[in-house]
Amino acid sequence: MARYDYRCRVCDSSFEVRRGITEDAAAAVPCPAGHVETSRVFSAVAVSRGASVSMGAAAPMAGGGGGGCCGGACGCG
Ligand SMILES: [Zn+2]
Repeated sequence: MARYDYRCRVCDSSFEVRRGITEDAAAAVPCPAGHVETSRVFSAVAVSRGASVSMGAAAPMAGGGGGGCCGGACGCG
């Protein structure tokens, strides 16, 4: 789920919308009062080069495991 900030251009209210990543974030979202003249508000951290930003990707664990393969899974003993 991702949170998006919207602002209504009719009643000038700000509201949040939670929707899935796979949903169309550019679709019109009505404000709590029912107006569809809303604009998505991009927060400072979200402003980047486009819609599909994959920042904060999980880095692979470096040197995880520690004990080599002799943990019983590969039968090296
Ligand atoms: Zn409104």
